Amino acid sequence: MIFTLLGTKMSEDIFCRSLPKIELHAHLNGSLSEKTLRKLGCLDESILEYHKLLNIINKTDRTLDECFELFKIAQTATSSKNSVYLATQSVIEEFAQDNVIYLELRTTPRAENDMTKQEYIESVLKGIKDSKSDIIVKLILSIDRRHDKVCSEDSLDVIVKMREEYPGIIKGIDLSGNPYVGGFDECLFSKAREHGLRTTIHCAEIPNDNEVQQILNFHPERIGHATSIHPDFGGSKENWQLYCKAKIPAEFCLTSNVVCGTSKCYAEHHIQQWMKNDLPFSINTDDKGVFCTSLSKEYEHVLNNFDLSKADLWNITYNAIDHCFASTEEIILLKKKMAEWKETHAQYF
Ligand SMILES: [Zn+2]
Repeated sequence: MIFTLLGTKMSEDIFCRSLPKIELHAHLNGSLSEKTLRKLGCLDESILEYHKLLNIINKTDRTLDECFELFKIAQTATSSKNSVYLATQSVIEEFAQDNVIYLELRTTPRAENDMTKQEYIESVLKGIKDSKSDIIVKLILSIDRRHDKVCSEDSLDVIVKMREEYPGIIKGIDLSGNPYVGGFDECLFSKAREHGLRTTIHCAEIPNDNEVQQILNFHPERIGHATSIHPDFGGSKENWQLYCKAKIPAEFCLTSNVVCGTSKCYAEHHIQQWMKNDLPFSINTDDKGVFCTSLSKEYEHVLNNFDLSKADLWNITYNAIDHCFASTEEIILLKKKMAEWKETHAQYF
C-alpha cells in the first residue's frame, strides 16, 4: 500500500525507515550483521563450516536452529578486546543508518581469553565513545540467568564500579538468558537499584506465574517481551491485573518472538493487548543480526498487522522516549527532534 495525501506519496517501508526511532532492547552480540561478522573474520572461507553458515546468512527467513547457529558465531566474534570494540562501533553505525536517534545497547560482561569482565565493559564503552554516528547511546549491562550467585554478584560488583566511572553512559542492569534456566534474584537487583542503576528484566518469555508476580512486585523500570502475562497468552488473571495497575513499560520484539515460536505470527502478537488497553510499550529488535531484521522492519510489521496510522506509529516512538534511561536534558532533546521531524514531514501524516 502507498500512502497518498495531498498528492504526496511515501511507501510504508520508506516512511518507517525515515521515522526517527528509539531502540531500547538490543543485545550487542545478537545485533551483529553479516557485514560485521565478516569484518571480524567470522565468515572467512577458511572456517570449517563456512558453506553451511553462508546458507544461513543468505536466508532472510531463518529457523530457530539456524538462529542458534548464528548466536554461537556471534558469541565467538567478540572474544577479544579489539573485536568487542569493533563490534560495538559497527552495531551503533548500523542503528544510526536506520535512523535510530537513541539506542540502549545491552550486553553481558564476559571474562574470556586475556579479557576480564571490566576490560570487556571498557571495550564496549570505548566503542560507544569513539562512535562518529549522530545517535545517543547508553549501555545496559546484563546478568545471565544461567550464572550462579557468586558469578552474578561478581558481575554486579564490576558493573557498579564501572557505573561510578561512567554514569553518563552506563544506565541500567538487565536479566536475560535462557528463560528455562535460573531465576530472578530480587536481592541482587535491589542492590543494583541502591547503586543508582535502572532495571529492565526479561519477563514472562514463557509461562511462569510465580516469577512474573515476583518481578512485577519488584517493579522494574521496564520489562522485556512480557509474552505470558495476559491470560490469552498463558498468564494468570491475577498477574494481568497486577500488571495493569503497575503499568510497567514493555519492550516488544515481534520478529524475535515469531521466530522463537513464542508468538504464532505477527498478527497474533500480544502487543495487541497493550494497544487495546492503552498500556505503555516500545518496539525493538532484540537481536537484529540473528533474526535478520531492523527497527524499521519491526515498525513495518506493526503497521502492516494492526490497524494503525502513520501518526500512531510516530506516537509509539515518541512515547517510548519517556521509557528510556537518558537524562532529562537528553529526553527534551529527543522529543524536540521528533517534533521537528513531524513538522517537516507533515504532508505524510
Ligand atoms: Zn532480549
